[in-house]
This record gives sequence, structure tokens and C-alpha cells, in this order.
Amino acid sequence: MHKILVTGGAGFIGSNLIEYLLNNTTGHIYNLDKLTYAADLDFAHNYHHDRLTFIKGDICNAAFINDLFQQHQFNKVYHLAAESHVDNSIENPQVFIETNVNGTFNLLHAAYHLWMEQPHIFKPSFQNMQPRFLHISTDEVYGSLKDEGFFTETTPYAPSSPYSASKASSDHLVMSYVHTYGLPAIITNCSNNYGPRQHDEKLIPVVIRKALSGEPIPIYGDGKNVRDWLYVTDHCQALHTVLENASAGENYNVGGKNEIRNIDIANHICSILDEVQPRKDGQPYAAQITYVKDRPGHDYRYAIDPSKIEKDLQWQPAETFKSGIKKTVEWYFKKYNL
Ligand code: NAD
Repeated sequence: MHKILVTGGAGFIGSNLIEYLLNNTTGHIYNLDKLTYAADLDFAHNYHHDRLTFIKGDICNAAFINDLFQQHQFNKVYHLAAESHVDNSIENPQVFIETNVNGTFNLLHAAYHLWMEQPHIFKPSFQNMQPRFLHISTDEVYGSLKDEGFFTETTPYAPSSPYSASKASSDHLVMSYVHTYGLPAIITNCSNNYGPRQHDEKLIPVVIRKALSGEPIPIYGDGKNVRDWLYVTDHCQALHTVLENASAGENYNVGGKNEIRNIDIANHICSILDEVQPRKDGQPYAAQITYVKDRPGHDYRYAIDPSKIEKDLQWQPAETFKSGIKKTVEWYFKKYNL
């Protein structure tokens, strides 16, 4: 039976990935998570399955991580554990470097110890080699686009925030282990995810929560910044497809071709809520939208060209933005409207 390590499995994408893997694979899954403020404690403590083991631990503890790899002999790794909120990285960048850079290094080195006896020269068989280490990264490593163009796998890295710089650094470390040691690792760089179990601090949960509580709905700057949105289970399916089918040493961009301005997201969510539960005073929820001081260094536009993953691995998202956001609003409506 495969032994699958998911780091950050109590977070937004990790918890959705674990559900996806339990439904679509036969391996045993180990959820390694430190349970930071961003973790979903309900998922970590109350989601049980006979093929799932929860391990509370810190990827920054090198000796612990090395022992864990030796003890469990993982042969597939999905690495998602990270500090993930850009605003926090502006306030407190240090923990982003510790977790996203040093933590990734500890995992790579533990995998290297377990899987590779000696540093060796690139072998022809390397690309099909099992086990596999999948590093889950972001399109933010590419920096900001103007109105035209898309990020491809060859776009030069130009991160703007401490968060994206820490993720860019970790991507470079992963590729250094591929090239130097022949570690069978792959990187995915995905656009913004949305869906159930995202932390309250992120844009879509904020809009829904503030709308329902009657508070101002804060939108940075003029609201015209563009993000490319992907429903979380489509991302999970892409991760599984890449880990199982891609050649080691590859990188793939993952995106849903859903470019939307932040202000349009807020208006769209408000209009769904207007139907689900109209405001008592008859006003639309959009009346609560309030522009606030822009985030420093705020990237203008992200947009992914997903043709490589579509062509090489025949991956396509199942959700449209319209279907995905409806499910998402329904999920948070239950969470926030008790
Ligand atoms: P999240 O913040 O919701 O979850 C991160 C999880 O990692 C949490 O459960 C947290 O407890 C855990 N964690 C943090 N530090 C840890 C440590 N030192 N040791 C062990 N566990 C630790 O993040 P997310 O949105 O689910 O993102 C997961 C990954 O996907 C991240 O690497 C992120 O960069 C990447 N990503 C996210 C998005 C997105 O839109 N959310 C898009 C592209 C890529």
C-alpha cells in the first residue's frame, strides 16, 4: 500500500486534498500539520477514516521530519504546509522564511535521505522514477501582469511580497534537489483557490462573513486587481494527476481561466446572498462594499496559461466559476449564519 504524506493537511487545500485522495486512491494518508491559526481544527480532530493518520508536528524541526520519513517510509509526498496569507507576510515576514523556505528544505532533505543513497548524475530512468515529491506552489512567484499576457512555465520569477518570495525560494530549492541529487520532485504553480474550509481571512470568506454580519465589506484600492480563480477540488484533481502521471523534474501551471476583478467577485457574491437571504432593510448587500487603503506592493493581475497541463496530462477543471462560487457561498452561508 502506498504511504502518502500530505503536509499542511489541516489547511484549506490540504484538507480538501485529503478528502479527494481518500475517495480516489487506495493508499494510507498521513496528515502532518502544526495546527497554526490557519488550520481547520474541526477537520484535524473530527475527520476520521481508517486510511488516515493525523500527526501534529512542525516541518521546521529537521530531526523530527527526518525521523518521520525513516519511520513511515513515505513513497508519495504532497507538500502544502506553508504560511499562506500575503498580508501577514507584510506584517511578519520571518515566519514565512522559516516555514516556507527552511521547512521545505527539511522535507526535501529527509526525502533525499530516504530515497537516494548517494548524489548521482541524472539518469535516463529518472523521469519515470517513483517515489514522488510534489511541491505545491503559487502563480504569485511570477509577479504581476499588466492587462495583456499570461504566466507560462517559462515566465521568469519576479515575486513582489515576502510570501511570494518565500514560495519562489522554496521552488528554487526543489529544483536544486532535482538537478543536483536527481530527487524525483515536481512543482505546480496554481492560481487563487476558492471553496470550502478556506480561512476566514481570505477574500471570499471575508466578503460573505462581513455581508452577513452587516459590516462594511472591505475591498483593497479601487477593486480592479484581477485574480484567476480555481475551485479547490479542481486543484486537488490536478495535484493527483500531476503526482501520478507527470515526469519527475517537471513544473506545471494550474489555473481555471477565470480572470475576475476583486470588485466583481464581491458584487457577484452579494447578488447570490441577495437571493439566498435578502437584507431585512431591502437594500442589496453590495451597499456594504467599502474601498480601503491598498495593500503595499499589491500585484495588479495574475493569469495562468494552463495549456501544458491540459495538453500533457489531459487535465480540465470540472467547475465553472458560476457553479463553484454558488457551492462556496452555500457552504459559508451555513458556517456564518448559525
Ligand atoms: P492554509 O494557510 O489554509 O493552510 C496551511 C496549513 O499548513 C495549515 O493547516 C497550517 O497549520 C499548516 N502549517 C503551517 N506551518 C506549518 C509548519 N511549520 N509545520 C506544519 N504545518 C504547518 O494554506 P492553503 O491555502 O491551503 O495553501 C496550501 C499550499 O498551497 C501553500 O503552500 C500555498 O502556498 C499553496 N497555494 C495556495 C493557493 C491558494 O489560493 N490558497 C494557491 C496556490 C498555491
